[in-house]
Amino acid sequence: MLKSTIDKICFKGFEFYVKRDDLLGEINGNKARKLAFYSSKTYTKHQRFISYGGIQSNAMAALSFFCFQRNIKFIFICKKIPSYLKENPCGNYALALKNKTEIIETDDNLKEYALSLCNKDDIFIEQGVANLNAEQGYKELASEIKEQSLELNLEFDIFLPSGTGTSAAFLAKHSQFKVFTCACVGDEDYLKKQILELMQDYDFKNLQILQKNQKYHFGKPYKEIYQLYKELKQECSIEFDLLYDMIGLSVALKRKWEKPLLYIHQGGILGNASMLQRYAFKGFK
Ligand SMILES: *Cc1c(COP(=O)(O)O)cnc(C)c1O
Repeated sequence: MLKSTIDKICFKGFEFYVKRDDLLGEINGNKARKLAFYSSKTYTKHQRFISYGGIQSNAMAALSFFCFQRNIKFIFICKKIPSYLKENPCGNYALALKNKTEIIETDDNLKEYALSLCNKDDIFIEQGVANLNAEQGYKELASEIKEQSLELNLEFDIFLPSGTGTSAAFLAKHSQFKVFTCACVGDEDYLKKQILELMQDYDFKNLQILQKNQKYHFGKPYKEIYQLYKELKQECSIEFDLLYDMIGLSVALKRKWEKPLLYIHQGGILGNASMLQRYAFKGFK
């Protein structure tokens, strides 16, 4: 069973709590929670995990560790890899290679291609591990937070930024505390749509999607995002993820919270390496 601590931190005079899921180990953050279901199963040696998505994705890195630890084959389908990256692997891509991932590039539809490779016993994983099996890890996380809130004698408002919204949706479903999120990929309507694709009858009553202060394009460098990243690292000695956390925290730090804020650190730090290269390239660093 996974378990992480809750740290109290202060940033620019604002006190809040951070659930340190980034410290869960090699596989950490929300990908560790999402894979909890798969960790509790055993696999035969001819079973393979097959997934698809971005070549620098945290999900790919987590799955590559997961399969490598268990000596299972992992196949990952992605778009054409830029030649510069191929010659100079870094970040999550370098990790996946180290963990013996078979990476297949295609111009075709990634999901269809990945599905076409699946034999009967293979395990197909949706992009970003956005599937119903992710629920188990969030049931566990919700009860872990409940226990810790009793020990701390605190009631929380919980915030975590969303990609597909799988993590926020399941945590809100199982937590007694109100859960807040924001959309880091696309807008609020797109996030809602993705959650409803996962669960057609999802009840949003315990999940509030907060508006962003401005539009951000996923994965694009922004000067103020790098600034916030650097300040948090200096003042709080915690490194947050550049893709999701910086958007999430810029929303969370602006809001007036009724209850103490518990921010879920969803890991993804290894993925920062490739983003930091882009920031350096843009001259923001
Ligand atoms: C994958 C990921 C997310 C997005 O999670 P969803 O469940 O798809 O919303 C957020 N933050 C980090 C650090 C991630 O790796």
